[in-house]
Amino acid sequence: MTEERVRTDEEREGPPAAGTRASSEQFPCRECGAGMRWDPERDALACDFCGATREVEVLADEIVERPLEEAGDAARGLGLELRVVQCRNCGARLALEPPVTSDSCAYCGSTKVMVQEANRNAIRPESLVPLDVGKRQVEEQFKKWLRKLWFRPNELKRAKRFDAVGIYVPFWTFDCLADSQWTAMSGTYYYVPVTQPVMVNGKLQMQTTMQQRVRWKPARGERSDVYDDLHVHASKGRCAELVRELGPFDTSGLVPYRPEYLAGWRAEEYQIDLADGWEAGRREIHEDQRRRCGADVPGDTQRDLRVRTELSDVRWKHVLLPIWSLSYRFRGATYAVLIHGQTGRVVGKAPYSFVKIVAAILAVCVVLALYLALG
Ligand SMILES: [Zn+2]
Ligand SMILES: [Zn+2]
Repeated sequence: MTEERVRTDEEREGPPAAGTRASSEQFPCRECGAGMRWDPERDALACDFCGATREVEVLADEIVERPLEEAGDAARGLGLELRVVQCRNCGARLALEPPVTSDSCAYCGSTKVMVQEANRNAIRPESLVPLDVGKRQVEEQFKKWLRKLWFRPNELKRAKRFDAVGIYVPFWTFDCLADSQWTAMSGTYYYVPVTQPVMVNGKLQMQTTMQQRVRWKPARGERSDVYDDLHVHASKGRCAELVRELGPFDTSGLVPYRPEYLAGWRAEEYQIDLADGWEAGRREIHEDQRRRCGADVPGDTQRDLRVRTELSDVRWKHVLLPIWSLSYRFRGATYAVLIHGQTGRVVGKAPYSFVKIVAAILAVCVVLALYLALG
């Protein structure tokens, strides 16, 4: 399919590779006017037509963490013209630039997708970790993962065409101070000799054993803890579970948000808003403080732990963290695996080869039959 837009003749000569559209007309190249995209390998905006690159200006120390009550002042939208592909299978809402060419969900490969307006009122991310691992590295990781799996079709292991897309996943992060006061009954073990009658060789004898007792006494204490960048994943549904399986992210590489980083890639819209995100974060902090206070109770054992925690100086920010989705078609079905944008960990499913499985079962049966016949 050729795109007939406002382009000069020389631009038409070098169309980008077919497959996923990975350039943004909202960031035109200064040299030739074609759409540029964020290039993870060059850490810059790059033009696929003429090869020009443009640095994305990083303003240092610009990352703002806001008090909870200032949610209303936060900037809105992603600063780009976007559509959202809503998946009816896994629930993901992935934003990408129009014209939308995606007919399947980048998370689960399902084709049950609807194109909708992007939520312009969504809070703009304060910062993100730019996509840094390139497409080639992602494909290498995927092939390595595939080679380690058993009973997969050979054609799949030899496959060369994948659609790799970078996705920015939404998170809330919270900072706060937690002051906890606790009371509990602290138990200390002690041992007492207990003399009991026991039967030894048919004769009744008195025997003394040491038995454990607990001496209880009340205890109390307090502690203060600082929480820094507690992450709360802001998506819902089955796609959220997959992302959780990818494991934690390192936020030391956060840079202030710029729409340029999204050029040509996808961003997931959050479905857990700030209030619900903080509710989840608050619960996690309270549970954590309960655990920490429990560890402070002296003695060998404890009961009746009561903890009162007050949180203050709560600050939040909205961040985007990078993953890759790699989808491939195999015998008429689309499969998608997710790859952590920092660690390269792979999560997902691959088709089984029933021929290989049946062959393995038959081999086991033959060995068993031989063993029985000879034994
Ligand atoms: Zn160019
Ligand atoms: Zn999906």
